[in-house]
Amino acid sequence: MARLIDGKQLSAQVLDTVATEVQQLKAEHSVTPALAVVLVGDDPASHVYVRNKVRSAGNAGIRSIEHRLDADTDQQTLNALIDNLNNDPDVHGILVQLPLPAQLDEDQIIAAIHPDKDVDGFHPLNVGALASGQSGLVPCTPLGSMIMLQQVHDDLSGKHAVVIGRSNIVGKPMAALLLQANCTVSVVHSRTRNIEALCRQADIVVAAVGRAELVKADWIKPGATVIDVGINAVEVEGKRKLKGDVDFAAVEPLAGAITPVPGGVGPMTIACLMKNTLTAARRQLSAGDTDKSNPAVAVGQS
Ligand code: NAP
Repeated sequence: MARLIDGKQLSAQVLDTVATEVQQLKAEHSVTPALAVVLVGDDPASHVYVRNKVRSAGNAGIRSIEHRLDADTDQQTLNALIDNLNNDPDVHGILVQLPLPAQLDEDQIIAAIHPDKDVDGFHPLNVGALASGQSGLVPCTPLGSMIMLQQVHDDLSGKHAVVIGRSNIVGKPMAALLLQANCTVSVVHSRTRNIEALCRQADIVVAAVGRAELVKADWIKPGATVIDVGINAVEVEGKRKLKGDVDFAAVEPLAGAITPVPGGVGPMTIACLMKNTLTAARRQLSAGDTDKSNPAVAVGQS
């Protein structure tokens, strides 16, 4: 039987540490880290995510400020709000809940957030920093997945890791982090031939696909560590259930360690958002009163 990497328990530990460090920051510098959460429209799943993020912020002693905008909000209005938040010294992190309504340009909005406040780690400067091994804010889901892997492996060096999925928010940054940890990394996707055979060679499989129970037992080398990022809502006997991208019942008996869904990577993602907000507050504190106009926007406009 595989060792279960319990995301609920581990995320509680991460949040405890964040909460302690938030208190230290308050005591030593009279600064309370603050996270601005921007929600546009009425997507029910986004509302649930935002509620969970705001609750976790409260538990960690982080101040959260919610901005709810109508579904028909235009680009100019959203940009004006981002601009205000970029320039507000009492706001340390800005999160724009994705997906945005169709009339809004997500890439432009992500680029409008100041990279020092980009707690999702999606800004091109943070993406570049991760790719080139420089310090920056790292996307929360891959960061949480790495913390989970470190529970099992003291040293990831030399391990063969297969990442299934190449999205900007999970697959690509996950691959970059694994590479930084000296893994040999294969990234597979919908056009990859014979994925099963590649996965069977892996010491570590990270599944970030969005297909319920795609990864079967015969994809996994006995003893491998399996991180299941997928969250898929499926109907089971008339009831809505959450399933991962891994066929947990079939894979768990032969894997060395595995994350469950729910209760795995999901809670770690939120905990890492709080960790990133603390990191952002610390960096802004040490940078002092610097200009918060967005350098990337300035370059784009010149
Ligand atoms: P995404 O943007 O849709 O990307 C999915 C990736 O999977 C793409 O690279 C796609 O390949 C690849 N893919 C699709 N079908 C495939 C197949 N049959 N075989 C191999 N690869 C295939 O999704 P995402 O945003 O990365 O999210 C992935 C999953 O993680 C979703 O279930 C999402 O809900 C979940 N998620 C969970 C958390 C969390 O906190 N736990 C956070 C974020 C996302 P192509 O590039 O070739 O199309």
